[in-house]
Amino acid sequence: MEICGGQTHAIMRYGIDQLLPPEIKLVHGPGCPVCVTSLELVDKAIYIASQPNIIFTSYGDMLRVPGSELDLFSVSARGGDVRVVYSPLDALQIARDNPDKEVVFFAIGFETTAPANAMSVIQAKNLGITNYSVLVSHVRVPPAMKAILSSPKNEVQGFLAAGHVCTVMGYWEYPTIADQFNVPIVVTGFEPLDILQGIKMVVGQLESNRSDVENAYNRLVTFDGNKVAQNIIKEVFLECDRKWRGIGIIPSSGWCLNQNYEEYDAETKFHTEYINPIESPKCIAGEILRGIKKPYQCSAYNIECTPEHPLGATMVSSEGACAAYYLYGIE
Ligand code: SF4
Repeated sequence: MEICGGQTHAIMRYGIDQLLPPEIKLVHGPGCPVCVTSLELVDKAIYIASQPNIIFTSYGDMLRVPGSELDLFSVSARGGDVRVVYSPLDALQIARDNPDKEVVFFAIGFETTAPANAMSVIQAKNLGITNYSVLVSHVRVPPAMKAILSSPKNEVQGFLAAGHVCTVMGYWEYPTIADQFNVPIVVTGFEPLDILQGIKMVVGQLESNRSDVENAYNRLVTFDGNKVAQNIIKEVFLECDRKWRGIGIIPSSGWCLNQNYEEYDAETKFHTEYINPIESPKCIAGEILRGIKKPYQCSAYNIECTPEHPLGATMVSSEGACAAYYLYGIE
């Protein structure tokens, strides 16, 4: 299993899966932050963005993710002030420029985006900005790997760990997973040669009955990772249970704002506790994100569900597995 959606797209783009012998089957993991953001949080984002006097900011990918009834694009089309930003610090600047409005940033992502999102909250506090808040949907990779390996349906025998996540976090959390589940883990990059190297190292371990953690991305990743970034995360967030779209709650798999920064929590500020999401019954994204099924095994794939009319987030995101299969014409 390649963890990251960026790796999935590289595999499809370069046809790597088709070059491999039939004994090696690649399955696609949950590492697409847009795809795993829970429907409940998407609905909360839509609810907040629909309120008067709000500027709702987000990375562009989230705007077309379907909620229970609408998406953020529809909110914008109906007159809501929804803006695409490329950094949470841009959202903070919007808050500084619009002191009479409430500005909310949709803080989604894995360990890679957490430091910048945390930094925006630290900056807001340092500058005394009170009209800024974040809707936090941070998820962590290691608990998701454990959840996948613990499933009775699991068939994953080796992992290509996500190089970008490990650039921030290192890979010190992985040896216990490799030991506990007897599974090889290779930290892998995103270029075609990186992926082939990662596959070769996983297969090499399987053939020699090893379950070690190895680093095939050492031009960027160290065992300890980026301690400065990790300390910024620790300053702002604490571990919490997190609901993953299509998968459900995974214990300790998320980060939430800690009590020192709770005044920046958009969920509390805008009283979103009454949201009741309704997922499309046709979408099997949860099984795809756990490596149990492929996108073409979904009855809606390329029929009711296309990038223009997505039923699930994995068809929207630039890192989503369904979008990758659609883009590269895989039926
Ligand atoms: S093709 Fe669409 S409906 Fe099917 S799993 Fe993918 S996103 Fe969900």
